[in-house]
This record gives sequence, structure tokens and C-alpha cells, in this order.
Amino acid sequence: MRSPLRRRPGKSDTWYRHVLPTAAVLFLAALAAACGSRGTATPAGKPLIVGTTTQIADIVRNIAGDRAAVVSLVGPNRDPHDYEPTTDAVEQVARSRVVFKNGAGLDDWLDRVLKNAGGSRPTVDLSAVVHLRYDAGQPDPHYWMDPTNVERMVPAIRDALVAADPADATAYRANANRYLQQVRTMDAQVKSIFDTVPTAGRKLVTDHDAFHYFADHFGLDYVGTILRGLSTSSEPTTQQLAALVGAIRDQGVKAIFAEASLNPKLAEQIGRDAGVKVVTDLYGDSLGPPGSDAGTYIGMMVSNARAIAEALR
Ligand SMILES: [Zn+2]
Repeated sequence: MRSPLRRRPGKSDTWYRHVLPTAAVLFLAALAAACGSRGTATPAGKPLIVGTTTQIADIVRNIAGDRAAVVSLVGPNRDPHDYEPTTDAVEQVARSRVVFKNGAGLDDWLDRVLKNAGGSRPTVDLSAVVHLRYDAGQPDPHYWMDPTNVERMVPAIRDALVAADPADATAYRANANRYLQQVRTMDAQVKSIFDTVPTAGRKLVTDHDAFHYFADHFGLDYVGTILRGLSTSSEPTTQQLAALVGAIRDQGVKAIFAEASLNPKLAEQIGRDAGVKVVTDLYGDSLGPPGSDAGTYIGMMVSNARAIAEALR
């Protein structure tokens, strides 16, 4: 039996076929415009720029200012290590003027997106301009955790934007200079936050190996991580967890830190076993939602420093 809600189109329904599709298109366009982070909402005339991760997109956005629309493929509070590209991502990359990638093994999935987007886009691999550290021969991709690496990224981003959109070169150069100053100010602010923690107490335990650059730059002792290695995909063995609990007790670590983009279950178990506090709102591989304390790269760095210093004091 036919559904009473589905009408057979008749002569009087012709308006429906012409007007409704137009109304639907207008509605969808309005909806897309309301969702600012969607690539489909790019204002006419502004080049679309893609960053693979939230941090890269935020840094690029600061240099692009209002001259370009910048989107991130990985969303806030999502793990870029196990990101699965969406059709939106493919569409955004297909329409982009430049793509900025992290490189160093964090966003190799971009190759698949580029292929599905129907060819290559001008792509800037930012790992080529930073100082990388290596762990067992593998590059550590979490280099944004050292602000001096972001100082190296800014000129590379500026030059790529100028090449893609020479008409706005003056704005990109001025924005880049202003942002460099903001990054240096943040660097000094984070150092002064850690000055409030006694030297012997500056010990860090986190979910995965995302904070080596941070610990090296700000003078923290990286005691260990819950997940092994530079990715988030490895499962620790019972022996490894017991060794970590032992190290936390032996070294008098006051608190351990879980990242907001990862499941805190293991960290909470280790915190119970070692009898220490667990802080679950550290931002490692992803920013928080726009507008939150950790919604920008600079905000994330200050928010992490405050959370760590407060727990370790
Ligand atoms: Zn990571």
C-alpha cells in the first residue's frame, strides 16, 4: 500500500518541482553559510587554504587574516594519527589554493585525499622547515610543541600565501610579523608559568610521546608515556604499565596528564595505581573547540602550561 504521505505528482504539483528545488538550494546555501568552518561557505573571491591539523590551520589563519578562508581537515579534539578522510575533506582539498601539511608521519593520509581530489595541489610540508627530533630513527611529528619551530613555520607559510595570492602580499607580511611577536610573547609567558614550579617537581607523564619538544624547550623532565611510541595506536603491555607506575612513585611525580583527544581510561587506572592526580584536559595533537581556552595554538600552549604547573606545584 502506498504511503499516504507520498503524493503522486500531478498537474497542480508542477510548482513543487520548480520552486522547491530552488528553495532547497537557497536553504542549503544559507545553512552552509551558517556553518563557518565548512569549505562550502568560502566567501566569493577569497582563496580557500587547507591545513591538515587544527594547529596548522590556526597558525595559517593568523597569517592569512581576512584575505583567505582557512579550514582544518581534522576537527577539534580529534586524533590526527587515526584520522579517516571524509568526502568533505576531499572536496575542500579539490577547491583549495594551497595545502599545508605537518609531514613527519602524522598526516600521510593526505596523499589519499589528494588522489581522491583529482590530482595534486600546491602542498607545503612544514616538517621541512623545522628542527626535527628523532626517536629510534623516526621523526617526531609533534614539533609545534616547541614555539621556536612555529617561528620557523611562519615565514614558510607567509611565502606560500604570497605565492598563491600575490595581490595580498602586504597583508600577509604584516600579519606574519605580528603573529611572530605573539608567539614569542607566549613563549616567554609559558617559561614564566613554569618558573612557579620547583625545579625538582618539573616532571611530566603524558598519554603518548607528543610532549618531547615541549619538555625539551621548557626544561621539564619527561618521565614516561602511557602509550608507547610517537603514534597513539600502540597498546602498552602490563609490564610496561607496571614500570611506569614504578617510575612515577620512585621519582615522586605529582600528577599525570591525559590528552583531551584520547580516551582517559588508562591514565585514570595508572593514576589510581600510582596514587597520583590525573589531569585530563591537556591538548597535544589537537586544539579544543573554537572559542575555548585551547581553541588556538597560542591558547593551547598557555592552557597546557597552566594545567601542568598547577598540578605539579
Ligand atoms: Zn601524536
